[in-house]
Amino acid sequence: METKELTGVAPKKAIVTPKTIIHQKFGTKACYTIEEVKESDENDCPGLSIPQKRPCVYRCSLQLPELLVVSGIFKKKKDAEQSAAELAIQKLGIRVDTDDPTPEEAWDSIVARINYLFSENFLSSLHPLSGHMGAILQRKGDLCGSLPVSVLAVYDAKLGSLCKYIDPEVESNPFLVMSYIIKATTKLSGFIATAEQHPWIRKQSPYPEDIVDSLLKQDGLQEPIQVAAVRIPSSEEKSVEAVTLHISSKEYYLNIIANELGLEDASNVLISRNLGKASSETRLFFAAPKSYILDPSSKLPNGKDGLHLDGPSNLRASYLSGHDIAGDAILASIGYTWKCRDLFYEDVAVQSYYRMLIGKTPGGIYKLSREALLASELPSRFTTRANWRGSFPRDILCNFCRQHRLSEPLFSIISHASKEPTESCGSNLKVADLGRDVIGCVNGAPTTSRPMQSDTEMFQCEVKLLSRCENLIIKCFPKDCFKKQNDAIQNASLKLLVWLNNNFNNTVVPFEPLYETADIFGIQIFSENFFREISHYHSIQNCQQLNQSLGINSSCTTPVKGVCLLKIEGPDSGVCPCNGSLSCISYSVSLVVEGENIKKVIEVTNNFEFEVGVGAVISYVEEVVMQMSVGQSAYFTTSIFTSDLIFASASDSVEMQSLLSSKGCCLEYEINLTKVAEPLEERMEQALFNPSLSKQRVEFAVRHIIESHATTLIDFGCGSGSLLEALLKYQTSLEKIVGVDISPKGLTRAAKVLHSKLVTNSDSGVQLTSIKSLILYEGSITKFGSRLQGFDIGTCLEVIEHMDEDEACLFGDVALSFFCPRILIVSTPNYEYNVVLQRSNLAAQEQYEESGEKTLLQSCKFRNHDHKFEWTREQFQKWASGLAAQHNYNVEISGVGGSADIEPGFASQIAVFKREWSLEDGLLKDADMDHHYNKIWEWVCHRKNK
Ligand code: SAH
Ligand code: MG
Repeated sequence: METKELTGVAPKKAIVTPKTIIHQKFGTKACYTIEEVKESDENDCPGLSIPQKRPCVYRCSLQLPELLVVSGIFKKKKDAEQSAAELAIQKLGIRVDTDDPTPEEAWDSIVARINYLFSENFLSSLHPLSGHMGAILQRKGDLCGSLPVSVLAVYDAKLGSLCKYIDPEVESNPFLVMSYIIKATTKLSGFIATAEQHPWIRKQSPYPEDIVDSLLKQDGLQEPIQVAAVRIPSSEEKSVEAVTLHISSKEYYLNIIANELGLEDASNVLISRNLGKASSETRLFFAAPKSYILDPSSKLPNGKDGLHLDGPSNLRASYLSGHDIAGDAILASIGYTWKCRDLFYEDVAVQSYYRMLIGKTPGGIYKLSREALLASELPSRFTTRANWRGSFPRDILCNFCRQHRLSEPLFSIISHASKEPTESCGSNLKVADLGRDVIGCVNGAPTTSRPMQSDTEMFQCEVKLLSRCENLIIKCFPKDCFKKQNDAIQNASLKLLVWLNNNFNNTVVPFEPLYETADIFGIQIFSENFFREISHYHSIQNCQQLNQSLGINSSCTTPVKGVCLLKIEGPDSGVCPCNGSLSCISYSVSLVVEGENIKKVIEVTNNFEFEVGVGAVISYVEEVVMQMSVGQSAYFTTSIFTSDLIFASASDSVEMQSLLSSKGCCLEYEINLTKVAEPLEERMEQALFNPSLSKQRVEFAVRHIIESHATTLIDFGCGSGSLLEALLKYQTSLEKIVGVDISPKGLTRAAKVLHSKLVTNSDSGVQLTSIKSLILYEGSITKFGSRLQGFDIGTCLEVIEHMDEDEACLFGDVALSFFCPRILIVSTPNYEYNVVLQRSNLAAQEQYEESGEKTLLQSCKFRNHDHKFEWTREQFQKWASGLAAQHNYNVEISGVGGSADIEPGFASQIAVFKREWSLEDGLLKDADMDHHYNKIWEWVCHRKNK
């Protein structure tokens, strides 16, 4: 027997069930009877002697005055009931009215609603408006019982939504509601409504005296109270300042705000929707323009606002609220709520205003989520969930949409099963040659697909921003693919946020450059809607660029742009952050007035963690931290970047204001680097291998160096010098060693580490090595430098996977045809080994999981997000043997970590190329190819060799 699923009435908007409709129509005359139905035994297992519990199924009969219907059979009682009701609706031909009301119906409903809001019944209900009703009945004289129309419009959501059926424009201009309310009230008898000087509504015959009396008695506010609020002057020359509202039980609180705004009466005050958090009562209070014409037909032609503003716009308040405001505005958190009859109030500090302001920008939302306004920054890249700190991009985007009154963002997931494996190894395959749907992308860098991944599903995500009325504003469809849908969503959200953030941060640049970058971000802008919905931040952002001559005082540090007086103190522990690692700092930022000995701490944060290399902190901080080692402290000053941020982080705005206005003030950062967690790849390798995989690679290389009796060595892609440093500890025959890398940061770190090692070695008098010269060059290893030709041995450990595949192949060619070392050692990860690493890492990853998803490594299919590819054993073998054959070298393939005979082979695969012929035979020197590497650092031994 079949059980049916409930189908049929599925109203799109308010969920009106068939039972509700029947109830509305028949009330208690509708009688439902549920009956349990026995199912036949046909599904039972024959011969089974243990009694089987069979699921119960139900049927419902519905008795109505003129009709009896019986439902089909359902697993749930309530589904049977709904089905019976649905049948009855069909049989009776009841029109299911789920359609929107017509404008006429809406007018009627508005009139009825206003009548209800002024009824005695309503007065005793717990509704923000009933609080106002109580308060206005206590007003003195003429105005007793007069309710400002603005209050009615703002605090009763139903009136607002009914107005939308009359005029959709209400959506973008909530104040239009007021004119409709007044118009509706004139249709009500027994009501007085004025639209002139003071727009208010009053019931002609007041409430019975006993009701008013009891209201007077139950008033909760005994003592006068002081509520901190903020004044936002319309003149931008004047600063935003704190004001105090003195509220007493004798006076309607809106009157006190009116006085503060220089207005006669509460009915001249307009009130914004609530700002900030959904639960907050914080609103803007401002003057209704004098020439305010409460006639909807007088709307401006652009439809943007129905208010005829008198004076110049209050840009700051308008930006905050999202609609035009003229004149001064008061930001306060005060009013009646759903929770309690008493007046609710909360202090609002100037700091809160600035926090709201920057909380409207994507970057600001991120900074606030990290409680680090002066250090954190919206990261520009999404690497792994585990490395992300602070609110996730998707949440920030949703928040942004809420702030700007847009619909929730729409995410669509596009899934790809990878195509047939593409031949990617050893050939000159260009990314551009690949079809768009051949995927395998990590963090923006598309790569060729690999046989290993051909059966894996990958996801892309498209995100759309829509206005409230569902107009498309922006579409963002980044090319990047992820193994987890959620990561694709985070990535797409971040791409869009970063782009949007540029819009908000560009104070000077016109909008055009953003259009130009849109393509790179995979963004399509629907301009008309964009300009209408996302207003610009430009006009209010308060940039105080101080013209300081920026110089660097310290000799041992690398200049950082925009930073002066950089000082790094404390012994170099050698533990340094690098791209991908998680750094933990404690920092403080102070405002310093030069020459006056004034220093005021603004922001202090301990144990602030961030991923290095993705821009998760302001560039100054990142660049300085990259020069530090754990245990060191750094001090530096920068010019004031924006005063908004300073006001948002400092609690004493008055003091800040006066300090900022003094000449020659700057920000001083003090940073302590407390911890560095290595990048994921290294963490995994260390956890799984003893000695660590990197140590094993170095030892593998050292063994070959010793065996070969080499005297000269070149380390291609030396990074921070892990191999070079190790070579200082071993006794080899090396005399001259050279490191080449493309990254100045890596080379700087290498130089520091090598320097400190050489100093300690010579101090202790122990000199193990025979090394006489050590040089670091900056340059790409795909280019040839003739000075480095014919070295005995070349090493290239875990470097090629950081280049595009065709570049890696080019390096092989250049190395063996121009550099021609006697021996070349190349190591790179074995892609097939990743499953082992992933498995072992699951435990560590658990702590980062949300909702039980496994994402850490899956989101990044390679070991390190900087890897452009990782080869299988077969791919590596093919590349190495092809290269060796082409250049007349021998090659042997082995590896470290794991074993060649046990699946899936070594963790790191290593090729050792050997040249049997002597260099004179086939010396190749192509002057066109010769690039002079940039010498970064050199050390020459001055000691006489024993
Ligand atoms: N060999 C080191 C570093 C490996 S990390 C070690 O085993 O610890 C990879 C390094 O390759 C990085 O320092 C990166 O800057 C460098 N690199 C990437 N592409 C390069 C190129 N085209 N030329 C030179 N170095 C490159
Ligand atoms: Mg690597």
